[in-house]
Amino acid sequence: MGWLQKILIPFLGLVLAFWFYSARDNFKPEMLKGKRVIVTGASTGIGEQIAYHLARMGSHILITARTEAKLQKVVERCLELGAASARYISGTMEDMAFAQHVVREAETLLGGLDMLILNHVGASYFGFFDGDVEHVRKLLEINFLSYVAMTTSALPMLKESEGSIVVVSSMAGKVGFPFTVPYSATKFALDGFFSSLRQEFSIQSINISITLCILGFIDTDRAVRAAAEVLRELPAPRDECALEILKGAALRHRELYYRYSSTRLPLLLRDCAAELLDYLVRSRYR
Ligand code: NDP
Repeated sequence: MGWLQKILIPFLGLVLAFWFYSARDNFKPEMLKGKRVIVTGASTGIGEQIAYHLARMGSHILITARTEAKLQKVVERCLELGAASARYISGTMEDMAFAQHVVREAETLLGGLDMLILNHVGASYFGFFDGDVEHVRKLLEINFLSYVAMTTSALPMLKESEGSIVVVSSMAGKVGFPFTVPYSATKFALDGFFSSLRQEFSIQSINISITLCILGFIDTDRAVRAAAEVLRELPAPRDECALEILKGAALRHRELYYRYSSTRLPLLLRDCAAELLDYLVRSRYR
């Protein structure tokens, strides 16, 4: 009974205090009104939903992906929803010159940039690592190098606006996942690059926030097609996920976990019970 009073109750008190303190961070949609935002991978999935939320909040939006017809429709919908402005540029993030071109266009079309949302993801396979090194290289270019190229080009504008970089990553970028080895490698690379860059911003007093988004299973068409049959858990809704990403970005959080219960909580085991966490990850699959 003594240990309950001495340890458990104060510990629960601390957890509750932390929870109340975090909940005080108040997001208001006006925070994003009039902001100039690039969203990559916005022709479908989570990126598309991010664009719609930004539109409702009255942002200036520049979206990109490869499929022009889909981008056109997303832009039309954004304008209907109330975007201050909405435009698209189509092209592939395999090409670093294209990645840099998108940022330069933001400067020309929007006159600056407040938020860079890096969300696109290249196609990969779901299965045991097949030894295809060329595929790993290509995926690194799309999922990692183009993020670096866009960030580098956007830095002068983001410094001026004291803006934000949002990096959409995954549980698979924090802990080893089977069946997605190349994808997982690209997401770990993002954590290494952007968490280190955040440290340098801090040393140099550069006021640009970096929000790394650690997502669990989300109900986008691609993810459901690839994993619904083999994963034991139900996917979370993409529109809610998109809103949480924007809240985390507007509040300048360093990391965002969605859903918290299936991402942050299991990750607490990483340092003290890594093998248990590995086992839990494997047991998610049928
Ligand atoms: P989708 O596959 O639904 O969307 C991917 C987007 O990227 C599309 O707009 C696609 O458009 C674009 N894209 C693909 N290849 C390229 C390319 N070579 N160049 C430029 N754009 C490209 O993905 P999700 O919405 O599911 O995922 C969004 C983000 O969330 C990703 O970073 C993903 O890793 C992350 N995530 C998703 C999870 C999930 O369960 N859904 C779980 C964890 C993380 P187009 O084909 O027209 O180019």
